[in-house]
Amino acid sequence: MEVGIVEVKLWLQKLNRKLQQEKEHLTDLDQAIGDGDHGLNMARGFKEVSIKIENTDYETIGALLKDTGMTLLTKVGGASGPLYGTAFLKAATSIGDKSSVTLTDLSEALEAALEGIKARGKANLLDKTMIDVWEPVILYMKENRESIDWDEVIRLSNEKMEATKELEARKGRAAYLGKRSIGHIDPGAASSNYFFVELADVLKG
Ligand code: ADP
Ligand code: MG
Ligand code: MG
Repeated sequence: MEVGIVEVKLWLQKLNRKLQQEKEHLTDLDQAIGDGDHGLNMARGFKEVSIKIENTDYETIGALLKDTGMTLLTKVGGASGPLYGTAFLKAATSIGDKSSVTLTDLSEALEAALEGIKARGKANLLDKTMIDVWEPVILYMKENRESIDWDEVIRLSNEKMEATKELEARKGRAAYLGKRSIGHIDPGAASSNYFFVELADVLKG
């Protein structure tokens, strides 16, 4: 299977629509264990991404992802802007000037993105952050490369997002709450769930 510029654009547009719809929900999650701006941050950033990519013709997936990353870096404050921004920039570098990619290329690009998030935020698995969704989903994609079951990606992503509820936050604002962060889904894990669910939705065809 090959993934082209059209599919990547469609994914980003669908993700934007989802984030606009779920803005309140993400804000509620961040209200519980953060400062209540995650929905606003994501909705604002991806609205800018949507406008930017809609009005630009791209010849490479790298250029499309780079614009996405730069837009998030410059338009979104907080922790999530630089983290998602870095993720898209790392993926852009990994894919480079290809105009279509295999699922192996895509998995490698997402792995590079995850490494970028980890390097920038210094968080690890089970710290109750977006990484708790990213890492297991990408591991699944890596291990299953050319035979990815996208419904399994969706199931796994949802499960890992839900599992952040039981964790005590060790990174980000929620870490200030210590044990009081337990019992709430991490907002960044929830937006990351949309990231992977919308990707799966486009690629399962
Ligand atoms: P802020 O906390 O600065 O207001 P957001 O509310 O937009 O930023 O994003 C919060 C989310 O960012 C958290 O739910 C968490 O998933 C993620 N996050 C925060 N710090 C880190 C980090 N160091 N590494 C990875 N993810 C992080
Ligand atoms: Mg916040
Ligand atoms: Mg904030």
